[in-house]
Amino acid sequence: MLLTDDISTLKNIGEQRREKLNKMGVYTVLDMLEYFPRDYEDRSVLTPIADITPGSSFGFVARLADKPTLTVKGKFKLVRAKLTDGTGQLEAVWFNQPYLKNSFQVGKDYWFFGKTSEKYGLLQVDSPEWEVYDPYKKSLSNGRIIPVYPLTQGLTQKVLRGVIKQALDTALDEVEEFLPAEIAKKYGFADRKYAVANIHFPESDNAFFKARTRLVFDELFLLQMRLLQLKGSIKKKQHGISIKNTDISPVLDVLGFELTSAQGKVLDEIKADVLSPYVMNRLVQGDVGSGKTAVALAAAYMLISNGYQVALMAPTDVLASQHFESISRLFGKLGIKTVLLKSGMKKREKDNACEDIKLGTAKMIIGTHALIQDNVEYKDLAMVITDEQHRFGVEQRRKLESKGKTPHVLVMTATPIPRTLGLILYGDLDISTIDHLPPGRQKIDTFAVNTSYHARLYAFIQKLCGEGRQCYIICPMIEENEKNDLKAAVEYTDELKSVFPQFEVACLHGKMKADEKQAIMSGFYDNKIQILVSTTVIEVGVNVPNATIMVVENAERFGLSALHQLRGRVGRGSEKSYCILVSDSKNSLSKERMKIMCSTDNGFEISEKDLQLRGPGDFFGTRQHGLPDMKIANLYKDIPILKQVQQAAVESYQKDPMLILPENRRLKQKILDIFDKNEKKLGL
Ligand code: ADP
Ligand code: MG
Repeated sequence: MLLTDDISTLKNIGEQRREKLNKMGVYTVLDMLEYFPRDYEDRSVLTPIADITPGSSFGFVARLADKPTLTVKGKFKLVRAKLTDGTGQLEAVWFNQPYLKNSFQVGKDYWFFGKTSEKYGLLQVDSPEWEVYDPYKKSLSNGRIIPVYPLTQGLTQKVLRGVIKQALDTALDEVEEFLPAEIAKKYGFADRKYAVANIHFPESDNAFFKARTRLVFDELFLLQMRLLQLKGSIKKKQHGISIKNTDISPVLDVLGFELTSAQGKVLDEIKADVLSPYVMNRLVQGDVGSGKTAVALAAAYMLISNGYQVALMAPTDVLASQHFESISRLFGKLGIKTVLLKSGMKKREKDNACEDIKLGTAKMIIGTHALIQDNVEYKDLAMVITDEQHRFGVEQRRKLESKGKTPHVLVMTATPIPRTLGLILYGDLDISTIDHLPPGRQKIDTFAVNTSYHARLYAFIQKLCGEGRQCYIICPMIEENEKNDLKAAVEYTDELKSVFPQFEVACLHGKMKADEKQAIMSGFYDNKIQILVSTTVIEVGVNVPNATIMVVENAERFGLSALHQLRGRVGRGSEKSYCILVSDSKNSLSKERMKIMCSTDNGFEISEKDLQLRGPGDFFGTRQHGLPDMKIANLYKDIPILKQVQQAAVESYQKDPMLILPENRRLKQKILDIFDKNEKKLGL
């Protein structure tokens, strides 16, 4: 049998099972071998019946004391059998499998495995799995550690176990060793055949451990090698602009609040970077509302006070304008000229801004993608900051960097990146974390309701806005449905205008002209608008502390990270804030999301859950990164292995970047096999 053969060449795979397996991404015998267990059950230990206790799972060998009996109670059909092994006795009970009455022979030995309980003071085992016991034959399902696979409806553990065993028996020999021998030796890895065999049917705990380590290494190593190839280089530490004076007290004086210790710690890290002779490459991650803007501001000041320019790039017009408003106000007090550059500005304004940037009179430059247009020239750009990094591709960050001569790089993100993913994706970045929020924030009370609650919801909005607060109402706008969604949002706004005649209601969406958007956002900042109906254009970064209630309509259409980002628009001041997720969806995945949202507002927890629900391929949205799903590596727990991976990958890459040496031939092929499909999606 060949690894590339279709799974239907395996016994027991008919058309139906084949389709089910295809759905799970299993097409070939190799895919089947790489369909790894999600868990294991230890059936290697046999327990004498005398030692069996109620309430857990046991494996034992026993014979039937008598013929089984069948009891019929209404719809229920119960088969019972008394089992004995000479040390004690217990009763096995099976539900609705009446045929089992005739499946056993009295006096013969059987394996059993199942969960025990106590009924009326008697020990019983419920619906145990069983098979004939043959002391001379190794069993597939008993007397060993057995795999538990992720299932889809219509497939059972027993079937998968059998099929995978078959694949192992017939095709394991063909599994290739693609890791260069030198690496395998250096890290003392088990070979790949051994790893594949033992990940399914581990001989022992230790064998499992060795198998898993090898497979996790392989998975991360292939990914890391591919990313290195795509990036085309390993970023070396470069010499950069080094400054002497990093006194930021003037900024702190105008900020109007004390920095938190978390912000202070991150700023210290940035300080050390710009004092050193090397270029800074730093990712600052902090949950929504943790105060990343203040950190960016202080960092920018370090360079500006030494005579340099700093650029801050934001992903949306709305966010760029907001940053401009607040930063120009603060820097204005310090005599620092701040300019805004974004699409949709009048030509005159744009030309003026570009002129100031080129001459160097503008020290702080804020904008959108407009900042990286070819015609924008900088005088002496010494630091580039990107806000909400996950919204940008690496390309755009690079382009901005190229506008200066080795500028320092600061990227900010609220999407908490599991450390491992961060290391893989941003291997060339140092990571700082703002790990707590400013004081005085209250928990945002979050509720999930269905549309029948609308009347009550409106009454609640009425009350809060009556007390002077403001409200966001979010309508989804998803690209493929754009037109209908837009219409829905606009119509809904009209409806709300008649529900709330005493308040100003306005609609904001991405299709509006820049100055319209600006007018509405200003109206909302100044509380001239109380109720803002918006699509997700406000998702990132927007900061209006007086807005304390957020309603998300059709909440099932948003992913967890998006919901968390959205919710982060409220709870930014000292007033109690609320988030209400409205959905009629019965889908279990969306229900799970709502539950998570109601139970926590910790961004790191949410991102971990998100990763579990979606897999890393989707983590940043395929648009940005298109990482493949991990089959075995756990991005939270496998950091030690990742360290080895990075070391090995960098060494291999430096020695043979094109992978043309004979010892790397198989490795090269494997990388192609895996990533070819995703090539276009990998935007790195
Ligand atoms: P994010 O990290 O989501 O970008 P922002 O920088 O927009 O968060 O800050 C959120 C809010 O918290 C803003 O209103 C900001 O003024 C305020 N803030 C930031 N740092 C502090 C602090 N140390 N103490 C009090 N308020 C702060
Ligand atoms: Mg922000």
